[in-house]
Amino acid sequence: MGKLVINNDKITKEVAEKLISICPFNAIEYNDNKLDINSACKLCKMCVRKGPQGAITFQEDEVKAPSVNKDEWKGIAVFVELELDNVHPVVYELIGKARELVQVTKQEVYAVLIASKEQVEKYKDEILSYGVDKLFIYENELYKNFNMDRFASAMENFIETEKPSVVLYGGTPLGRSFAPKIASHFKTGLTADCTRLGMKENTDLIQVRPAFGGNIMAQIICTNTRPQMATVRYKIFQKPAQGKAHGSVVYKETKNLKLDSMIKLLNIIRKERTEDISEADVIVACGRAFKSAEEMSIAYELADLLGGIVAVSRPMVEAGIKDAKYQIGLSGKTVAPKLIITLGISGAVQFVAGMSGSQLIISINKDPNASIFDVSHYGIVDDVFKVVPELIRLIKEAKGE
Ligand SMILES: Cc1cc2nc3c(=O)[nH]c(=O)nc-3n(C[C@H](O)[C@H](O)[C@H](O)COP(=O)(O)OP(=O)(O)OC[C@H]3O[C@@H](n4cnc5c(N)ncnc54)[C@H](O)[C@@H]3O)c2cc1C
Repeated sequence: MGKLVINNDKITKEVAEKLISICPFNAIEYNDNKLDINSACKLCKMCVRKGPQGAITFQEDEVKAPSVNKDEWKGIAVFVELELDNVHPVVYELIGKARELVQVTKQEVYAVLIASKEQVEKYKDEILSYGVDKLFIYENELYKNFNMDRFASAMENFIETEKPSVVLYGGTPLGRSFAPKIASHFKTGLTADCTRLGMKENTDLIQVRPAFGGNIMAQIICTNTRPQMATVRYKIFQKPAQGKAHGSVVYKETKNLKLDSMIKLLNIIRKERTEDISEADVIVACGRAFKSAEEMSIAYELADLLGGIVAVSRPMVEAGIKDAKYQIGLSGKTVAPKLIITLGISGAVQFVAGMSGSQLIISINKDPNASIFDVSHYGIVDDVFKVVPELIRLIKEAKGE
């Protein structure tokens, strides 16, 4: 992990003040002419990079990095997660992203389907139509429903025999519990909830995700281990268009895999389907400009007229004005609607992380310097309580209501 080293010969009062002003976590103290780093330090190394040169340096731990022959690990594999009635759409978003990434390495895109015969027949052509080069199938009646022991055994077999350089999973409840088990088996890295992925020519995957409460966009690279693993939330990447399938199907042997399990599935109870902001095409998002549910009635009226739903920023959930399932952002849901209108939202990084993939962003805020305007396609600098009723009037007029 490494540690920060204070080089006392370089510390003067001015240097200390500069370092204190740079640290985003208030972790640097200067008392009795002595500089200290306290327990608030998150090792972000801002003081090393941005501070007076040499005042604080970073000393890496001496660990012998495991060595890996990267040439033996090829291709990007996507784990195919099945919902009860379909392939989870995040799978196709990941296949689309994988296709982009292999442009750099000139390697192949794989998908791994662990399923019953009936499910295989139902989904295999659909999966291939999204541009997979090879679909690896583990078929067994015992794979009809997800089972951690059985699925892990199949996935481990896939990785051991096919040696993919990268394995991607949806950042769903299932993907988030499955991926760590596989990563720990292979003693390799796993980056959760990536918001961007890139690829280096040497096949190192660039995994970007917010860290330290969204204050930093961390770039994570696993230089010494393979496979590289990441989970990615639904709606971060665009679903590609279906096309003519060109890929091949490879059936993998399952009889020597672990098919017994201590986990017994007793029953499946479907959750009632509720309004889901991740699926909405049009969203009207309300922020702290609204002090109560009553005040938000104009937002509901606007959303109704546009056939959309109302979502909120986190303070609205914290204030008990709206349920947490309507929260957009880092600790809420990621949305990518065709249109989002933000009303009285400042544009904090944690909010923007959950909506910057929207196709058209229109924002209304009375502060011309609000950072929401940096990510908006159109901005209106004014009071929402003035602009929204006027918008409603114009839309009604256009609709002849
Ligand atoms: C670890 C962590 C995770 C977080 N996760 C999330 C998350 O998932 N989602 C999220 O939203 N936040 C999250 N936050 C909180 C985030 O940092 C911000 O505090 C939050 O997004 C601010 O919400 P807001 O824009 O509604 O409120 P504010 O920042 O208070 O902004 C209100 C805006 O409304 C404008 N305004 C006020 N009145 C009017 C009016 N009458 N007309 C027009 N404009 C008006 C103001 O100019 C201001 O820009 C997280 C924070 C942390 C630390």
